[in-house]
Amino acid sequence: EIISIGDVVRFQAQEQPEQVVFTFQGDEMTYARLDAGSNQAAQALASKGVGKGDRIAYMGKNSHLYFEIMVGAAKLGAVMVPVNWRLAPPEVAYILNDCQAKLLFIGPGFVDLVRKIEKDLDHVELILGSEQPEGEFAGYPAWRDGFDAVDPMVQCAEDDDALQLYTSGTTGHPKGAIMTSGSIFSSRSSETKEEDLMDWQKPIPGEITLLAMPCFHISGTGTGLTVMFAGGSAIVLPEYDPTQALELIEQYNISKIFMVPAAIQILLNHPRASEVDFSDLKYITYGASPIPLELMKRAMDVLGCGFVQMYGMTETSGTIVTLNPEDHDPKGNEKMRSVGTPLPGVEIKIIDPESKETLPPRTIGEIATRSAKNMKGYWNRPEATAETLDKEGWLHTGDAGYLDEDDYLYIQDRLKDMIISGGENVYPAEVENAIYANPKVADVAVIGVPDEKWGEAVKACVVVKEGQEVTEADVIADARERIAGYKCPKSVDFIEALPRNPSGKILRKDLRAPYWEGKD
Ligand code: ATP
Ligand code: MG
Repeated sequence: EIISIGDVVRFQAQEQPEQVVFTFQGDEMTYARLDAGSNQAAQALASKGVGKGDRIAYMGKNSHLYFEIMVGAAKLGAVMVPVNWRLAPPEVAYILNDCQAKLLFIGPGFVDLVRKIEKDLDHVELILGSEQPEGEFAGYPAWRDGFDAVDPMVQCAEDDDALQLYTSGTTGHPKGAIMTSGSIFSSRSSETKEEDLMDWQKPIPGEITLLAMPCFHISGTGTGLTVMFAGGSAIVLPEYDPTQALELIEQYNISKIFMVPAAIQILLNHPRASEVDFSDLKYITYGASPIPLELMKRAMDVLGCGFVQMYGMTETSGTIVTLNPEDHDPKGNEKMRSVGTPLPGVEIKIIDPESKETLPPRTIGEIATRSAKNMKGYWNRPEATAETLDKEGWLHTGDAGYLDEDDYLYIQDRLKDMIISGGENVYPAEVENAIYANPKVADVAVIGVPDEKWGEAVKACVVVKEGQEVTEADVIADARERIAGYKCPKSVDFIEALPRNPSGKILRKDLRAPYWEGKD
């Protein structure tokens, strides 16, 4: 029976030992090697006292060894915590102290960062370079090779903690979401019959997935888990790089990629995008932030593959709602503005954020969800957990949206980002979509700023396309063609680039800050 991450690897190593699971910088790791390597990792971790429920951390770019260590930990019932390496040193220290990791693995190039925070780490007893020795820190491969590849055979239950990923910190401090074996594998369940799967979910023989998104985010780690569960194969990129992505698409028979909208945009803007043959590509799955309709249309035109939008969050172990390829209309129908319909076993309802009552179709409220994919809770944060997960098991997402009559979910925006201007609710994403449709606009973020008359006024922060000129009045007049007057920006800031986090999400809180100093 397959319950845990360890079980998945044991199973695949038995079924297809010679199949390559991860290719990383030319090194091909088979399921047999992953199984044996993770047994050694488990023995090595156990020798340092790591056992069931203990946390270990990995801070580094993507690597096949990240997965080997993660599976090794899972075989002991221990919990891998991948840490966002783009964070500033105090933020990294915060997460390492918060999760209480005993061991820290660092990828190439992070010695300086670790030296800066080493004295502040309260729980870390051992630091190892994950691929090789790093400065004064010994290397993981040599360390694990000192141990026999003996499976510790620790019993795991569905409700055991399996992984802990921190939220992206788009709206505040990142929070550690605890995923269990059940939440990770419920939707990939061994009971799922092939005929129940949607076309894009069915394994394609010989398919290769490109793992291009970071593993400290559920998109990267989730892609790896999906591949292992399906017995598939992935090429792992250390980090997203459009030039490499295009080369790999040309070189290998890559059929699936998950990308955040910002990554799709960078790919399309690459000078080589028009030369590359994308005909092997079957599906691009995308999500994590809203995608402007114009960008979606361009992607469909240039890439010509099937597209699947995904909506979910760290707290739901990834995707819970999908917009399937057949709903992607190049002309842009109404459904294309939605994120689609719930996956089997996932419940979605819209509630009034204050009264918590369920709202009828086409009424905007807070999105709540219930399924086996929901996290167990936030690590060491009983209050935040109680605010997010209610007694009936509904997870309150903090996202605003509505359902239509056919159960398609439309995301308005985050409740926290909603602008209340003159008593009207304005959702930044909708305004951004309208401004992005202006061909002179390269990028845009919309925020609320304090306003004596309106309470809050809509402001657009616009990045203009190279070689183009556009005025504040142009931007406002152009937006007015597409959206109601009260939603249009009252003012426009022209900026060089938008602040984004590594998942490509616009950090509106950073744009808002200077306007709200002393006022919030
Ligand atoms: P934090 O919770 O720390 O503020 P975060 O919410 O950005 O950060 P994640 O768990 O990575 O952290 O992201 C989940 C959020 O991303 C969702 O709640 C939603 O706001 C947004 N999101 C995910 N998928 C989509 C999508 N397809 N379209 C629009 N927004 C999406
Ligand atoms: Mg969130």
